[in-house]
Amino acid sequence: PPSEKRPPVSPDPEEQHDAGSSSVQGELSGRRAVVTGGASGIGAACARALAARGAAVVVADRDEDGARSLAEELGGESWAVDLLDTIALEQLSLRADILVNNAGIQVVSPIQDFSPDDFRRIQTLMVEAPFLLIRAVLPGMYERGFGRIINISSVHGLRASPFKSAYVTAKHALEGLSKVTALEGGEHGVTSNCVNPGYVRTPLVEDQIADQARLHSISEDEVMNRIMLTESAIKRLVEPREVASVVAWLAGDDAGMVTGSSYVMDGGWSAR
Ligand code: NAD
Repeated sequence: PPSEKRPPVSPDPEEQHDAGSSSVQGELSGRRAVVTGGASGIGAACARALAARGAAVVVADRDEDGARSLAEELGGESWAVDLLDTIALEQLSLRADILVNNAGIQVVSPIQDFSPDDFRRIQTLMVEAPFLLIRAVLPGMYERGFGRIINISSVHGLRASPFKSAYVTAKHALEGLSKVTALEGGEHGVTSNCVNPGYVRTPLVEDQIADQARLHSISEDEVMNRIMLTESAIKRLVEPREVASVVAWLAGDDAGMVTGSSYVMDGGWSAR
């Protein structure tokens, strides 16, 4: 794993930021960004958006091949990591100026049938791992007086839906963790925010469409129209790059006063 002890991808980010000497010039030049779940969907879009603005990106994912190939494309670094391995994460000291806690999974089932193992797995991946990663990056961020923690939550961090007990619980917990991080980190130049997308066009949602169709005994087209888009004002799924553009803005200097907040991006879904 990319630890404090390992040499960074590029020279000292702080120096490089001042010197503006990154190969891609941009407002994030010299910043080192770790994106979990970076091999697919929203995480991959975030990795691309951060790299396009000059950050040195670490694509962290259990999908080793996916992480490596995107890291190669972006001139960054890959980190093959299973974020369910919390014992390893407890030992970690991670160098990052920007941490995007994005990795997530979804299991859809009524509570009475919900596997306790699945429930625990989702809390571990989507609450405990972000906590351990934040814990691993904060000392370095505090030392350098700069940090951006960006937690990919969901509209389900703020509102519930049936059959998603573990996911809704985890995302609500992530909102709390994000706010506490904001309160502790503020005086050290560290901000912490959530981004709360509605349904985004990714493999995770494609799986969900099939699950919801089965649970509600309706077709996949009906799931899209009746469950995903009915309450949306803009009748389409969110694109991953649209989430990534908010993440990239939060990572930059202009968002220095934005902390402890949650950015809903759902085409109006939760306005109703
Ligand atoms: P995705 O399935 O496309 O990507 C998730 C990535 O996480 C994959 O690359 C996967 O390999 C990785 N991952 C899963 N378990 C891991 C583990 N144990 N260790 C390391 N990596 C692991 O999903 P996505 O739709 O891009 O979702 C990303 C995040 O966005 C999730 O937190 C999800 O809850 C959130 N989100 C998604 C949507 C949506 O509609 N797609 C909406 C709101 C929020």
